[in-house]
Amino acid sequence: MIVPGNLFILSAPSGAGKSSLINALLKPENQGSARAMQVSISHTTRDARPGENNGEHYHFVSLAEFKKQISLNAFYEYAEVFGNYYGTSEAAIDAQLSQGIDVFLDIDWQGAQQVRMKKPGVTTIFISPPSKEELESRLRGRGQDSDEVIASRMAQAQAECSHYNEFDYVIVNDDFDQALLDLTTIVNNQRLKCRQQSIAQQDLFSKLLNIEAVEPTE
Ligand code: 5GP
Repeated sequence: MIVPGNLFILSAPSGAGKSSLINALLKPENQGSARAMQVSISHTTRDARPGENNGEHYHFVSLAEFKKQISLNAFYEYAEVFGNYYGTSEAAIDAQLSQGIDVFLDIDWQGAQQVRMKKPGVTTIFISPPSKEELESRLRGRGQDSDEVIASRMAQAQAECSHYNEFDYVIVNDDFDQALLDLTTIVNNQRLKCRQQSIAQQDLFSKLLNIEAVEPTE
């Protein structure tokens, strides 16, 4: 019997290092034989950035297509973020979970609120930058953005951070290796729960609990 996958949400303000943490967690060497992990690929109406591929980073769709998907109830959740729509396909996630794959949703706090209502068993994780100064320096370090753009990103980050206490776990990404260890611990914690182990270790427990099956030795 397949142990159903766990659903995780990771939310963070831009610049907290969420993508690097997810990429490190999903590296092949961290994909134990026990359970596969995948990041959900969202639908979005925003344009692809250089280096982004359709179907890999996002499913890039028109506003009309996105609205059609809403009318078909195809999304677990969707939200308008920074003027564009983003949504998580319900069928894709359910298929992955039923195959025993742990699925990670990289979505904002609005999406997290909606998924919590639909999937009470979801594990939600907020990734925080270590300080306001460090966040600003990471945002500035990214490129040539004007002071105005940086100020608007800082305001957006503050809005995202104001929801930190709605999450099950909070990881402060100061030291990257520590933050990755924290994230791995949370994932393993879910997998070791009795509800999951009773399915994963079904064989073991049916043998341990069946005293008649033990052959007496001479
Ligand atoms: P970006 O456009 O930089 O890739 O993402 C902008 C924001 O949208 C990020 O905070 C990201 O977590 C959020 N986001 C990405 N996909 C989804 C989604 O499917 N649903 C929701 N609610 N937010 C999303």
